[in-house]
Amino acid sequence: PDALEPLAAVVGADLAAPLVTGGSVRYANLDYAASAPALAEVADHLTEVLPFYASVHRGAGYASQISTSVYENARGTVRAFAGARPDDAVVFTRNTTDSLNLLAGCVPPGLDVLYLDIEHHANLLPWQGRPHRSVVAADTVAETLERLGAELAHGGVGLLAVTGASNVTGEVLPLAELAALAHAHGARILVDAAQLAPHRRIDMAGDPGAVTGIDYLAFSGHKLYAPFGSGVLVGRPDWLDAGRPHLAGGGAVSEVRLESVAWATGPARHEAGSPNVLGAATLARAAEVLGALDPVAWTRHEEQLRAALVDGLEAIDGVGVHRLFADAPSAIGVVNFSIAGYDAGLAAAYLSAEHGIGVRDGRFCAHPALTRLGLPAGSLRASFGVGSRLEDVERLVAAVGQLVEAGLGIDYAVDAGRWVP
Ligand code: PMP
Repeated sequence: PDALEPLAAVVGADLAAPLVTGGSVRYANLDYAASAPALAEVADHLTEVLPFYASVHRGAGYASQISTSVYENARGTVRAFAGARPDDAVVFTRNTTDSLNLLAGCVPPGLDVLYLDIEHHANLLPWQGRPHRSVVAADTVAETLERLGAELAHGGVGLLAVTGASNVTGEVLPLAELAALAHAHGARILVDAAQLAPHRRIDMAGDPGAVTGIDYLAFSGHKLYAPFGSGVLVGRPDWLDAGRPHLAGGGAVSEVRLESVAWATGPARHEAGSPNVLGAATLARAAEVLGALDPVAWTRHEEQLRAALVDGLEAIDGVGVHRLFADAPSAIGVVNFSIAGYDAGLAAAYLSAEHGIGVRDGRFCAHPALTRLGLPAGSLRASFGVGSRLEDVERLVAAVGQLVEAGLGIDYAVDAGRWVP
């Protein structure tokens, strides 16, 4: 039972949500997959570093020196969190989307990028702008791996770009197998870890029993219990040092003449302009806190909450939980479902207004994945993390049960935000 207690304190855990029926209740935040509430340690660190706000890499003053060292030390913390190789580059970006766009400018021109149809748009659209190929996933992971293997065997693929955990269903892909498959065909692998990093220990370099052999990893601060505006791309430096600088401007150069430039190598090449020091510092602090969690307790907490939610929802008539694969090795705290006869947007509005529960509805920036699931009009997604309690998922199950029991023939008056018979 202890595993069902929150694993960490998050900011806003005791926020009250107003109900249209009168009064208010503790807000049940079940939208961690969109943006996770900040960890208490992250909020503390923010106030610690804020007084030293000053220019980075550009000032000799005391505060500048502190800011610069906070920023540069954050790279080492992220490297350790990701289990990266000592020579891997750690480039700070705005978010996962930014990281993937950066890498898209660095994959050598003659090579294709290969991706699946289940990806978030951030791991799909940047590749569409350059030579690429896509594969439609099968109903099983095993068959999907075979399809990817067949495509890789045609040759010419430089990078396999896959999600670590689906933002739609939470299903985790077998990354060690995918990495081995890519490498066997001379390709590298990028893992979009926007969803995986906040939920599972990752070991890019490879450690027995961990997710191994990842060449590039991207994730966002705001899904990792840190504020918006920071992200990271970690990975092999050769393509990054030879590729197109992500942004042109100050700090990314070694020498500038009026009509030409010699670009810097290393992370600076892609980080032109004044960097987001607080973003990097808070992302790194979150990585430190998550890195210190017991991985077994971390996964058990999440699996128990997930099981309670999935079992509870599936026991309600007309409620379906959606999965992409019949054989995914595991799943993080993201559960996708729909309620027969109810529009997802209206059901989400009802859960918020009547029960103080925050979920996401829609197509989750993954239109091909939703098409594949047969949900062109979208669905609902409940997601949770280290600050979540059993009580949160039980409230969702009870609220969905009440909605279904109320039966059809009741319309939700969106404008008024209340139920009318
Ligand atoms: N990939 C996945 C799997 C995601 O869930 C998200 C965010 N929903 C992204 C990429 C994009 O992240 P960001 O919006 O922080 O760039």
